[in-house]
Amino acid sequence: MLGRLAGDEFALFVENLPATTDNRPAVGALARELLDELRRPFQLNQHELYVTGSVGIALCPRDADNVVDLIRDADAAMYYSKQNGGNSHSFFTPEMSAAAVERLMMKAKLRRAVERDELVILYQPKVDLREGRVVGGEALVRWRLPGHGDIAPAQFIPLAEESNLIQEIGEWVLKRVVQDYRSWQEQVPKPGRIAINLSLKQLRQAEFLTRYRSVFDDAGVSPSNFELEITETTLMTEAGRTIRLLDELRAMGLHLTIDDFGTGYSSLSALQQFPVGTLKIDQSFVRDATTSREDATLVRTIIEMGKNLDLEVVAEGIESQQQLDYLRSRDCHYGQGQLFGEPMSAGDFLQLLLAQARGESGYERMFASA
Ligand code: C2E
Ligand code: MG
Ligand code: MG
Repeated sequence: MLGRLAGDEFALFVENLPATTDNRPAVGALARELLDELRRPFQLNQHELYVTGSVGIALCPRDADNVVDLIRDADAAMYYSKQNGGNSHSFFTPEMSAAAVERLMMKAKLRRAVERDELVILYQPKVDLREGRVVGGEALVRWRLPGHGDIAPAQFIPLAEESNLIQEIGEWVLKRVVQDYRSWQEQVPKPGRIAINLSLKQLRQAEFLTRYRSVFDDAGVSPSNFELEITETTLMTEAGRTIRLLDELRAMGLHLTIDDFGTGYSSLSALQQFPVGTLKIDQSFVRDATTSREDATLVRTIIEMGKNLDLEVVAEGIESQQQLDYLRSRDCHYGQGQLFGEPMSAGDFLQLLLAQARGESGYERMFASA
Protein backbone atom coordinates (compact mmCIF):
# COMPACT_ATOMS: atom_id res chain seq x y z
CA MET A 1 0.00 0.00 0.00
CA LEU A 2 1.36 3.40 -1.02
CA GLY A 3 0.10 6.65 0.48
CA ARG A 4 1.05 10.31 0.80
CA LEU A 5 1.75 11.46 4.34
CA ALA A 6 2.44 15.16 3.79
CA GLY A 7 4.10 17.47 1.27
CA ASP A 8 6.81 15.40 -0.35
CA GLU A 9 6.57 12.49 2.08
CA PHE A 10 5.17 9.14 1.10
CA ALA A 11 4.72 5.89 3.00
CA LEU A 12 4.94 2.42 1.56
CA PHE A 13 3.57 -0.52 3.53
CA VAL A 14 5.15 -3.84 2.66
CA GLU A 15 3.15 -6.71 4.11
CA ASN A 16 3.49 -10.43 4.46
CA LEU A 17 7.24 -10.60 4.90
CA PRO A 18 8.26 -13.82 6.63
CA ALA A 19 8.47 -13.04 10.35
CA THR A 20 11.16 -15.58 11.14
CA THR A 21 14.15 -14.52 9.01
CA ASP A 22 16.04 -11.23 8.83
CA ASN A 23 14.01 -9.20 6.33
CA ARG A 24 16.43 -6.37 6.00
CA PRO A 25 18.29 -7.48 2.84
CA ALA A 26 15.03 -7.96 0.95
CA VAL A 27 13.52 -4.66 2.10
CA GLY A 28 16.81 -2.86 1.44
CA ALA A 29 16.84 -4.21 -2.13
CA LEU A 30 13.30 -2.95 -2.63
CA ALA A 31 14.30 0.50 -1.36
CA ARG A 32 17.23 0.66 -3.78
CA GLU A 33 14.98 -0.41 -6.62
CA LEU A 34 12.54 2.40 -5.77
CA LEU A 35 15.32 4.98 -5.59
CA ASP A 36 16.72 3.87 -8.95
CA GLU A 37 13.28 4.13 -10.50
CA LEU A 38 12.79 7.62 -9.03
CA ARG A 39 16.12 8.82 -10.39
CA ARG A 40 15.21 8.18 -14.00
CA PRO A 41 15.42 11.47 -15.91
CA PHE A 42 12.28 12.89 -17.51
CA GLN A 43 11.51 15.75 -19.89
CA LEU A 44 9.72 18.91 -18.80
CA ASN A 45 9.50 21.94 -21.10
CA GLN A 46 12.55 20.82 -23.07
CA HIS A 47 14.54 20.37 -19.87
CA GLU A 48 15.84 17.08 -18.68
CA LEU A 49 15.04 16.77 -14.99
CA TYR A 50 15.44 14.13 -12.35
CA VAL A 51 14.52 13.82 -8.69
CA THR A 52 16.06 11.80 -5.89
CA GLY A 53 14.56 10.46 -2.72
CA SER A 54 15.52 9.43 0.80
CA VAL A 55 14.10 6.28 2.33
CA GLY A 56 13.71 5.39 6.00
CA ILE A 57 12.70 1.89 7.01
CA ALA A 58 11.12 0.64 10.23
CA LEU A 59 10.16 -3.01 10.75
CA CYS A 60 7.26 -4.49 12.67
CA PRO A 61 7.56 -6.02 15.23
CA ARG A 62 11.32 -5.42 15.43
CA ASP A 63 11.12 -1.59 15.83
CA ALA A 64 7.50 -0.98 16.81
CA ASP A 65 4.24 -2.87 17.10
CA ASN A 66 1.78 -0.13 16.17
CA VAL A 67 1.27 2.12 13.16
CA VAL A 68 1.96 5.42 14.89
CA ASP A 69 5.35 4.37 16.26
CA LEU A 70 6.23 2.60 13.04
CA ILE A 71 5.68 5.75 10.96
CA ARG A 72 7.54 7.87 13.50
CA ASP A 73 10.54 5.52 13.40
CA ALA A 74 10.53 5.34 9.61
CA ASP A 75 10.43 9.15 9.57
CA ALA A 76 13.47 9.37 11.85
CA ALA A 77 15.35 6.93 9.60
CA MET A 78 14.31 8.93 6.53
CA TYR A 79 15.79 12.13 8.05
CA TYR A 80 18.97 10.21 8.74
CA SER A 81 19.20 9.28 5.04
CA LYS A 82 18.48 12.86 4.04
CA GLN A 83 21.13 14.28 6.31
CA ASN A 84 23.69 11.87 4.98
CA GLY A 85 23.39 13.22 1.48
CA GLY A 86 20.07 11.68 0.42
CA ASN A 87 19.37 9.28 -2.42
CA SER A 88 19.85 6.40 0.00
CA HIS A 89 17.96 4.23 2.47
CA SER A 90 18.50 3.68 6.21
CA PHE A 91 17.08 1.26 8.73
CA PHE A 92 15.77 2.69 11.98
CA THR A 93 17.94 2.49 15.11
CA PRO A 94 16.98 3.77 18.60
CA GLU A 95 19.66 6.51 18.44
CA MET A 96 17.82 8.02 15.49
CA SER A 97 14.75 8.33 17.62
CA ALA A 98 16.59 10.37 20.25
CA ALA A 99 17.95 12.65 17.52
CA ALA A 100 14.48 13.00 16.01
CA VAL A 101 12.95 13.98 19.35
CA GLU A 102 15.71 16.55 19.85
CA ARG A 103 15.08 17.93 16.37
CA LEU A 104 11.34 18.19 16.96
CA MET A 105 11.90 20.01 20.24
CA MET A 106 14.32 22.44 18.63
CA LYS A 107 11.85 23.07 15.85
CA ALA A 108 9.08 23.85 18.32
CA LYS A 109 11.39 26.24 20.18
CA LEU A 110 12.54 27.84 16.96
CA ARG A 111 8.95 28.57 16.04
CA ARG A 112 8.75 30.80 19.10
CA ALA A 113 12.21 32.31 18.70
CA VAL A 114 11.09 35.22 16.54
CA GLU A 115 8.26 36.33 18.81
CA ARG A 116 10.43 35.87 21.90
CA ASP A 117 13.09 38.05 20.37
CA GLU A 118 15.76 35.35 20.62
CA LEU A 119 17.33 35.98 17.23
CA VAL A 120 20.21 38.43 16.98
CA ILE A 121 22.18 39.80 14.07
CA LEU A 122 25.93 40.18 14.29
CA TYR A 123 27.97 42.12 11.78
CA GLN A 124 31.39 41.21 10.48
CA PRO A 125 33.34 44.07 8.92
CA LYS A 126 34.41 43.92 5.28
CA VAL A 127 37.69 45.68 4.65
CA ASP A 128 39.17 47.28 1.54
CA LEU A 129 42.55 45.55 1.42
CA ARG A 130 44.18 48.35 -0.55
CA GLU A 131 43.77 50.94 2.19
CA GLY A 132 42.67 49.05 5.30
CA ARG A 133 39.27 50.70 5.55
CA VAL A 134 35.93 49.18 6.58
CA VAL A 135 33.66 49.47 3.55
CA GLY A 136 30.69 47.49 4.85
CA GLY A 137 29.87 44.27 6.57
CA GLU A 138 28.04 40.97 6.51
CA ALA A 139 24.95 40.32 8.62
CA LEU A 140 25.09 36.90 10.32
CA VAL A 141 22.16 35.60 12.31
CA ARG A 142 22.42 33.80 15.68
CA TRP A 143 19.80 32.13 17.81
CA ARG A 144 20.35 33.12 21.43
CA LEU A 145 18.38 30.29 23.06
CA PRO A 146 18.27 30.71 26.84
CA GLY A 147 20.30 27.95 28.47
CA HIS A 148 21.97 26.98 25.18
CA GLY A 149 24.12 29.97 24.33
CA ASP A 150 24.38 31.06 20.71
CA ILE A 151 23.22 28.55 18.11
CA ALA A 152 24.94 28.91 14.73
CA PRO A 153 22.86 29.40 11.58
CA ALA A 154 24.17 26.16 10.09
CA GLN A 155 22.27 24.36 12.84
CA PHE A 156 18.92 26.10 12.75
CA ILE A 157 18.50 27.49 9.21
CA PRO A 158 18.05 23.95 7.80
CA LEU A 159 15.38 23.31 10.47
CA ALA A 160 13.60 26.51 9.53
CA GLU A 161 13.76 25.47 5.89
CA GLU A 162 11.69 22.40 6.59
CA SER A 163 8.71 24.70 7.03
CA ASN A 164 7.58 28.21 6.18
CA LEU A 165 9.52 29.40 9.18
CA ILE A 166 12.42 30.30 6.92
CA GLN A 167 10.25 32.96 5.33
CA GLU A 168 9.48 34.50 8.70
CA ILE A 169 13.10 34.38 9.82
CA GLY A 170 14.38 35.75 6.50
CA GLU A 171 12.01 38.69 6.70
CA TRP A 172 12.89 39.33 10.32
CA VAL A 173 16.60 39.38 9.39
CA LEU A 174 16.05 41.84 6.57
CA LYS A 175 13.88 44.12 8.70
CA ARG A 176 16.38 44.15 11.55
CA VAL A 177 19.34 44.85 9.27
CA VAL A 178 17.51 47.71 7.55
CA GLN A 179 16.54 49.09 10.98
CA ASP A 180 20.15 48.89 12.24
CA TYR A 181 21.32 50.58 9.06
CA ARG A 182 18.98 53.48 9.59
CA SER A 183 20.19 54.03 13.11
CA TRP A 184 23.85 53.94 11.98
CA GLN A 185 23.04 56.51 9.30
CA GLU A 186 22.07 58.95 12.00
CA GLN A 187 25.68 58.99 13.19
CA VAL A 188 27.77 57.96 10.19
CA PRO A 189 26.91 59.39 6.78
CA LYS A 190 28.03 56.30 4.88
CA PRO A 191 27.97 53.04 6.86
CA GLY A 192 28.99 51.12 3.71
CA ARG A 193 27.23 48.21 2.06
CA ILE A 194 25.75 45.45 4.21
CA ALA A 195 25.51 41.89 2.92
CA ILE A 196 22.63 39.56 3.82
CA ASN A 197 22.69 35.80 3.22
CA LEU A 198 19.88 34.09 1.36
CA SER A 199 19.19 30.40 1.02
CA LEU A 200 17.62 28.60 -1.91
CA LYS A 201 14.36 28.04 -0.04
CA GLN A 202 14.06 31.77 0.57
CA LEU A 203 14.57 32.59 -3.09
CA ARG A 204 11.89 30.05 -3.94
CA GLN A 205 9.19 31.65 -1.76
CA ALA A 206 6.35 32.86 -3.95
CA GLU A 207 6.08 36.30 -2.39
CA PHE A 208 9.78 36.79 -1.84
CA LEU A 209 10.23 39.77 -4.18
CA THR A 210 7.16 41.74 -3.12
CA ARG A 211 7.90 41.22 0.55
CA TYR A 212 11.52 42.27 0.27
CA ARG A 213 10.62 45.30 -1.76
CA SER A 214 8.09 46.46 0.82
CA VAL A 215 10.62 46.17 3.67
CA PHE A 216 12.88 48.72 1.94
CA ASP A 217 9.92 50.91 0.98
CA ASP A 218 8.46 50.91 4.50
CA ALA A 219 11.79 51.79 6.08
CA GLY A 220 12.61 54.40 3.47
CA VAL A 221 16.12 53.00 2.99
CA SER A 222 17.57 52.51 -0.47
CA PRO A 223 18.22 48.87 -1.46
CA SER A 224 21.49 50.06 -3.00
CA ASN A 225 22.97 50.06 0.52
CA PHE A 226 22.61 46.28 0.65
CA GLU A 227 23.84 43.20 -1.05
CA LEU A 228 22.42 39.70 -1.15
CA GLU A 229 24.75 36.71 -0.89
CA ILE A 230 23.76 33.51 -2.61
CA THR A 231 26.02 30.47 -2.59
CA GLU A 232 27.41 29.16 -5.84
CA THR A 233 25.55 25.87 -5.38
CA THR A 234 22.23 27.69 -4.92
CA LEU A 235 22.83 29.73 -8.06
CA MET A 236 23.46 26.68 -10.15
CA THR A 237 20.23 25.00 -9.06
CA GLU A 238 17.62 25.82 -11.69
CA ALA A 239 19.85 28.52 -13.14
CA GLY A 240 17.25 29.78 -15.65
CA ARG A 241 14.64 30.55 -13.03
CA THR A 242 17.24 32.04 -10.72
CA ILE A 243 18.54 34.46 -13.36
CA ARG A 244 15.08 36.00 -13.83
CA LEU A 245 14.70 36.50 -10.10
CA LEU A 246 18.18 37.96 -9.75
CA ASP A 247 17.52 40.35 -12.62
CA GLU A 248 14.56 41.74 -10.68
CA LEU A 249 16.56 42.05 -7.47
CA ARG A 250 19.30 43.81 -9.38
CA ALA A 251 16.71 46.15 -10.93
CA MET A 252 15.60 47.06 -7.40
CA GLY A 253 19.13 48.34 -6.84
CA LEU A 254 20.45 45.46 -4.76
CA HIS A 255 24.01 44.31 -5.26
CA LEU A 256 24.41 40.54 -5.73
CA THR A 257 27.25 38.33 -4.55
CA ILE A 258 28.20 34.71 -5.11
CA ASP A 259 29.12 33.28 -1.70
CA ASP A 260 31.45 30.32 -1.09
CA PHE A 261 32.81 30.74 -4.60
CA GLY A 262 35.01 27.87 -5.78
CA THR A 263 32.97 25.14 -4.09
CA GLY A 264 30.39 24.81 -6.87
CA TYR A 265 30.83 24.23 -10.55
CA SER A 266 29.73 27.36 -12.29
CA SER A 267 30.94 27.79 -15.82
CA LEU A 268 32.32 31.03 -17.14
CA SER A 269 29.33 31.45 -19.44
CA ALA A 270 26.90 30.95 -16.53
CA LEU A 271 28.79 33.56 -14.53
CA GLN A 272 28.36 36.10 -17.28
CA GLN A 273 24.62 35.52 -17.36
CA PHE A 274 24.05 36.20 -13.67
CA PRO A 275 23.72 39.87 -12.77
CA VAL A 276 26.24 39.49 -9.94
CA GLY A 277 28.75 42.12 -8.89
CA THR A 278 30.95 40.21 -6.45
CA LEU A 279 32.67 36.87 -6.04
CA LYS A 280 33.37 35.81 -2.49
CA ILE A 281 36.20 33.28 -2.35
CA ASP A 282 35.31 30.39 -0.05
CA GLN A 283 37.17 30.47 3.24
CA SER A 284 38.56 26.96 2.83
CA PHE A 285 40.79 28.18 -0.01
CA VAL A 286 41.78 31.35 1.81
CA ARG A 287 42.73 29.33 4.89
CA ASP A 288 45.19 27.16 2.99
CA ALA A 289 46.38 29.69 0.42
CA THR A 290 49.63 30.29 2.29
CA THR A 291 50.40 26.59 2.79
CA SER A 292 48.96 24.74 -0.20
CA ARG A 293 50.08 25.42 -3.73
CA GLU A 294 46.76 24.27 -5.22
CA ASP A 295 44.72 26.56 -3.00
CA ALA A 296 47.07 29.46 -3.73
CA THR A 297 46.55 28.86 -7.45
CA LEU A 298 42.81 28.72 -7.00
CA VAL A 299 42.72 31.97 -5.03
CA ARG A 300 44.94 33.70 -7.58
CA THR A 301 42.80 32.41 -10.46
CA ILE A 302 39.55 33.61 -8.90
CA ILE A 303 41.05 37.05 -8.25
CA GLU A 304 42.18 37.32 -11.88
CA MET A 305 38.92 35.97 -13.21
CA GLY A 306 36.99 38.52 -11.14
CA LYS A 307 39.13 41.32 -12.56
CA ASN A 308 38.60 40.14 -16.13
CA LEU A 309 34.84 39.93 -15.64
CA ASP A 310 34.77 43.30 -13.89
CA LEU A 311 33.60 41.81 -10.59
CA GLU A 312 34.62 42.72 -7.07
CA VAL A 313 36.44 39.92 -5.26
CA VAL A 314 36.19 39.36 -1.49
CA ALA A 315 38.33 36.85 0.38
CA GLU A 316 36.55 35.51 3.45
CA GLY A 317 37.97 33.82 6.53
CA ILE A 318 41.21 35.86 6.76
CA GLU A 319 42.73 34.85 10.08
CA SER A 320 46.42 35.72 9.86
CA GLN A 321 48.72 38.52 8.78
CA GLN A 322 50.37 36.09 6.32
CA GLN A 323 47.06 35.42 4.61
CA LEU A 324 46.41 39.15 4.43
CA ASP A 325 49.87 39.83 2.98
CA TYR A 326 49.41 37.08 0.40
CA LEU A 327 46.01 38.39 -0.69
CA ARG A 328 47.33 41.92 -0.95
CA SER A 329 50.31 40.75 -3.00
CA ARG A 330 47.78 39.17 -5.38
CA ASP A 331 45.82 42.41 -5.50
CA CYS A 332 42.66 41.06 -3.89
CA HIS A 333 40.56 44.16 -3.22
CA TYR A 334 38.36 43.13 -0.31
CA GLY A 335 38.54 40.83 2.69
CA GLN A 336 36.73 39.65 5.79
CA GLY A 337 37.76 37.47 8.67
CA GLN A 338 38.72 37.09 12.30
CA LEU A 339 41.87 39.13 11.70
CA PHE A 340 39.67 42.22 11.29
CA GLY A 341 37.08 41.15 13.79
CA GLU A 342 34.64 38.44 14.76
CA PRO A 343 31.01 39.11 13.95
CA MET A 344 29.93 41.86 16.42
CA SER A 345 26.76 43.54 17.67
CA ALA A 346 25.19 46.42 15.77
CA GLY A 347 26.40 48.77 18.52
CA ASP A 348 30.00 47.57 18.27
CA PHE A 349 29.89 47.83 14.50
CA LEU A 350 28.78 51.44 14.82
CA GLN A 351 31.66 52.10 17.25
CA LEU A 352 34.07 50.67 14.68
CA LEU A 353 32.68 52.97 11.99
CA LEU A 354 32.92 55.96 14.34
CA ALA A 355 36.50 55.07 15.29
CA GLN A 356 37.38 54.85 11.63
CA ALA A 357 35.84 58.28 10.99
CA ARG A 358 38.20 59.58 13.69
CA GLY A 359 41.08 57.87 11.89
CA GLU A 360 41.60 55.05 14.37
CA SER A 361 40.09 51.81 13.08
CA GLY A 362 42.78 49.71 14.72
CA TYR A 363 43.85 48.13 11.42
CA GLU A 364 46.71 50.54 10.81
CA ARG A 365 49.52 48.16 11.79
CA MET A 366 48.26 45.29 9.63
CA PHE A 367 48.50 47.52 6.59
CA ALA A 368 51.82 49.14 7.44
CA SER A 369 53.82 46.36 5.74
CA ALA A 370 53.72 45.09 2.15
P1 C2E B 1 28.81 32.46 5.11
O1 C2E B 1 27.86 33.44 4.52
O2 C2E B 1 29.83 31.90 4.20
O3 C2E B 1 29.46 33.21 6.35
C1 C2E B 1 30.79 33.08 6.75
C2 C2E B 1 30.93 32.27 8.01
O4 C2E B 1 32.31 32.25 8.39
C3 C2E B 1 30.21 32.85 9.23
O5 C2E B 1 29.76 31.75 10.00
C4 C2E B 1 31.32 33.60 9.95
O6 C2E B 1 31.07 33.77 11.33
C5 C2E B 1 32.49 32.68 9.71
N1 C2E B 1 33.78 33.37 9.76
C6 C2E B 1 34.02 34.68 9.64
N2 C2E B 1 35.35 34.96 9.72
C7 C2E B 1 35.97 33.78 9.89
C8 C2E B 1 37.34 33.39 10.02
O7 C2E B 1 38.27 34.19 10.02
N3 C2E B 1 37.60 32.06 10.16
C9 C2E B 1 36.59 31.13 10.15
N4 C2E B 1 36.93 29.86 10.29
N5 C2E B 1 35.30 31.47 10.05
C10 C2E B 1 34.98 32.77 9.91
P2 C2E B 1 28.32 31.70 10.61
O8 C2E B 1 27.95 33.05 11.15
O9 C2E B 1 28.24 30.53 11.52
O10 C2E B 1 27.39 31.44 9.36
C11 C2E B 1 27.41 30.24 8.65
C12 C2E B 1 26.56 30.30 7.42
O11 C2E B 1 25.18 30.45 7.76
C13 C2E B 1 26.87 31.51 6.55
O12 C2E B 1 27.98 31.23 5.75
C14 C2E B 1 25.58 31.66 5.77
O13 C2E B 1 25.57 30.83 4.64
C15 C2E B 1 24.53 31.17 6.75
N6 C2E B 1 23.80 32.33 7.31
C16 C2E B 1 24.20 33.24 8.23
N7 C2E B 1 23.25 34.16 8.47
C17 C2E B 1 22.21 33.83 7.66
C18 C2E B 1 20.90 34.41 7.43
O14 C2E B 1 20.52 35.45 7.99
N8 C2E B 1 20.12 33.77 6.51
C19 C2E B 1 20.50 32.67 5.84
N9 C2E B 1 19.68 32.10 4.96
N10 C2E B 1 21.72 32.10 6.03
C20 C2E B 1 22.55 32.68 6.93
MG1 MG C 1 27.85 34.90 3.38
MG1 MG D 1 30.85 31.98 2.65
